[in-house]
Amino acid sequence: MREFKDYYQILGVPRNATEKEIKAAYRKLARKYHPDVNPGDKQAEEKFKEINEAYQVLSDPEKRAAYDRYGEQWQAYQRMREQYGEGFEPGGFGAPFDLGDFGEFIEQLLRGGGVGGGLRVQRAPRDIEQTLEISLHEAIHGGTRTIQIGMEEPCPTCGGTGVAPESRRTCRACGGTGRRRFGMFGLEMHCDECEGTGVVGAPCPTCRGSGVVVRTRTLTVNIPPGVAEGQRLRLAGEGAPGADGTRGDLYLRLKIKPDPRFERKDDDLYTDVDIDYLTAILGGEVEVPTPHGIVKMKVPPGTQSGTRFRLAGKGLPLGKGKIGDLYARARITVPKHLTPRERELLEQLRQLRNRQEVKL
Ligand SMILES: [Zn+2]
Ligand SMILES: [Zn+2]
Repeated sequence: MREFKDYYQILGVPRNATEKEIKAAYRKLARKYHPDVNPGDKQAEEKFKEINEAYQVLSDPEKRAAYDRYGEQWQAYQRMREQYGEGFEPGGFGAPFDLGDFGEFIEQLLRGGGVGGGLRVQRAPRDIEQTLEISLHEAIHGGTRTIQIGMEEPCPTCGGTGVAPESRRTCRACGGTGRRRFGMFGLEMHCDECEGTGVVGAPCPTCRGSGVVVRTRTLTVNIPPGVAEGQRLRLAGEGAPGADGTRGDLYLRLKIKPDPRFERKDDDLYTDVDIDYLTAILGGEVEVPTPHGIVKMKVPPGTQSGTRFRLAGKGLPLGKGKIGDLYARARITVPKHLTPRERELLEQLRQLRNRQEVKL
């Protein structure tokens, strides 16, 4: 068992030292004990290591807080061992427990893992977010889609333990619970011997000891009508599974695929609509294809090429029942071929128009 180390004492600072004071004390000591300054001096080397360890913990507010909270348990334990002799084992809350090793606690701190619960949740179920591309038609009318999604799952051969079933033995360090109690107040930590699985043995051949395999899942997704770009669909219980098999949620962030018939600018859609020259001149009605189906649009007499007509509520679904607008841009079409009769009439029309122009 590694003995308790008082990091404050090592750096020579009070327990309420500020970050600045800790840094200044560390720099001063590190310069003094640096191996470059003390070549071949084993004691200085040890001291240098200790100073660095102390600084690594005390310079990080989270690690310092954990050290402050739990470090004194080892101090109390040591004092009692001194008082009652080597045979002393503290009684815990009910069950006898292994106090563990102060070094193990510190190593977890230095590795940046959490203490007391942090590591136990590493195989907790997780929520997952993915993008789902849908067509404009699906966004407006809704639909059902089958999607395939690759996800990490607990390995079926070893049940997520990473240990080959035939070689599996209960972990002696934790008695198969996957957790070990540290300290007099029952601080629980993840068991390092078995990585919290409670079993040890040869690595599982299916997952090579990782405990997880990637599986492709096929899911059916219901897309409600009127969904907007960026909206998330929640599939409860279809996320990544934890060690106990329960799953987080899967979120599908919707992305509406561009439609070649409609140009998109922010919340609005644009489309070109052909208007024959006679309707443009005399006025009338044309049919406009919209994402919501074909609608009839009134064209006033004298419509110019490029004129924009707003078709309210015929554009993109914006969510919460709102629908954006569609703008129809007039494109005046002229016939390429004329019958002799048409030509004759148009010629007359031109003469008439020219005479009027002269008069004006
Ligand atoms: Zn496995
Ligand atoms: Zn264990």
